[in-house]
Amino acid sequence: MSDYAIRKVVIVGGGTAGWMAAAALSNWLPKRSMEIDLIESDEIGTVGVGEATIPPLLQFNDMLGVNEDEFLAAAKGTFKLGIEFVDWGAIGERYFHPFGSHGADINSVLFHHFYLRERSQRSMPDIREWSMSAVAAGLGRFARPGAGARLPLSQLVYAFHFDAGLYARFLRRYAEARGVRRTEGKIVHVAQESESGHVQSVTLADGRTIAGELFIDCSGFRGLLIEDTLGTGYEDWTRWLPCDRAAAVPCALPGPPDPFTRSTARAAGWQWRIPLQHRMGNGLVYSSAHQEREDAETLLLANLENEPLAPPRHLSFTAGRRKLAWNANVVSLGLSTGFIEPLESTSIHLVQSGIMKLMALFPDRRFNPAERDEYNRQVQDVFEDVRDFIVLHYKATRRDDSDFWNYCRTMDIPDKLASKLELWRSKGRLFRDGQELFGPASWVAVLLGQGVVPEEQDPMVATVDPATAAETLDKMHLSYRRLAEQMPAHSEFIARACPATSGG
Ligand SMILES: Cc1cc2nc3c(=O)[nH]c(=O)nc-3n(C[C@H](O)[C@H](O)[C@H](O)COP(=O)(O)OP(=O)(O)OC[C@H]3O[C@@H](n4cnc5c(N)ncnc54)[C@H](O)[C@@H]3O)c2cc1C
Repeated sequence: MSDYAIRKVVIVGGGTAGWMAAAALSNWLPKRSMEIDLIESDEIGTVGVGEATIPPLLQFNDMLGVNEDEFLAAAKGTFKLGIEFVDWGAIGERYFHPFGSHGADINSVLFHHFYLRERSQRSMPDIREWSMSAVAAGLGRFARPGAGARLPLSQLVYAFHFDAGLYARFLRRYAEARGVRRTEGKIVHVAQESESGHVQSVTLADGRTIAGELFIDCSGFRGLLIEDTLGTGYEDWTRWLPCDRAAAVPCALPGPPDPFTRSTARAAGWQWRIPLQHRMGNGLVYSSAHQEREDAETLLLANLENEPLAPPRHLSFTAGRRKLAWNANVVSLGLSTGFIEPLESTSIHLVQSGIMKLMALFPDRRFNPAERDEYNRQVQDVFEDVRDFIVLHYKATRRDDSDFWNYCRTMDIPDKLASKLELWRSKGRLFRDGQELFGPASWVAVLLGQGVVPEEQDPMVATVDPATAAETLDKMHLSYRRLAEQMPAHSEFIARACPATSGG
């Protein structure tokens, strides 16, 4: 261990971000050489939402050595194969954004080019029929591919829905078993070194003081250290992402849980539907400039499939990101770093991605600015990439039934997104830039799903004989359907592999 190694990490906040950070660091940092304290306040509580995830979470579980069935049983989780979007392109339309690819590329040319050529010549089913995940989701089926799975089962890609509170509890047990010390109490004062401005310690309402060398700010929207103490600043993206409020309410399940999230566009935002083992999570995300809180609540309650199990909870947020995710000796994670609204369930992933980057650039007590700058650059990139993909959903609409949709349809968009759309519109070309989270298959699903069709074909399709391509597509289509029909129902799979074990 170097003379400058960090000896004490203090995590402020015990929501999903705080406990994910505690679990990952306690598993990773050499034992006994570093202490980890986590402080959370029962009085303040957590945001309590955040129940749909994306596939990279499997890697986080692997890193922790978590058994997937035990984790799902503890968090009353279900499997998620993608998101069904209703009424986004136009009222009455629906499409599926699946995890994983559509079909398979032919001669290194992306699959969607052949699909588009076929579609221009004969009547074709929706592109979701070429996604293993989407076909299984449509039939309410699930099977776990497992290591060494062969095509097309290996193309089934999944994530999870879970109860956020139970997930945090699960991670807390994991982290405490690995030496993380939890302190309950409300932080009322933060002490800084006079010269560097580095945070030295935090003081709780009962007078206890906890000192540290590296502070991880997981205190939620407020950003207790990164903003209140360090005044880092926030980049506001409301002009591209006008939703700034949410109302969330659980209801009883109307039937067996579906293996997908549903997002239904409404007049001033959209409504989520997240099936867990024991309840349905619902919420309306909306723009306060276009809808009153009371109207939002009425709309949400009117669109539940069952009686609510609790009164609706209201939340406010501003889409955007902290100008520096890492400032001085404070690294922010979770909502204190920023929030891009939950349309593609990316927030928990952004926590995971921040943790992985922090581990790759872990500082010592000299806090090399080059490491911090690189961290901030990478976090900025990933936030902006996700932002652009979410903005696409609002921009690529033909809806003109409300002021909200008229605004979204006609708004200016970030330059990088505009260039990407231009490339797509001309010949259907898409490229994954650097570490972008959402690859071409995701963009194709949303673009075609919302009715944005390229004007011409990519000349590269001419490298494959049309009859051969057509036959390949038909075979693929059949193989997905046949396999999905053999899979167990999603609810049967859960009942066998990971039925809920915990209370709550
Ligand atoms: C409407 C909505 C829907 C969402 N849906 C999804 C989704 O489907 N998928 C997804 O990935 N993400 C989603 N998210 C985001 C997700 O909820 C968060 O990313 C995740 O819960 C992490 O939150 P957090 O831990 O950063 O903050 P919080 O849960 O707010 O936790 C903050 C912690 O800091 C503590 N704290 C704060 N101040 C003090 C203080 N003074 N002293 C001591 N402790 C303090 C609190 O007690 C708490 O423990 C959603 C968010 C919203 C708003």
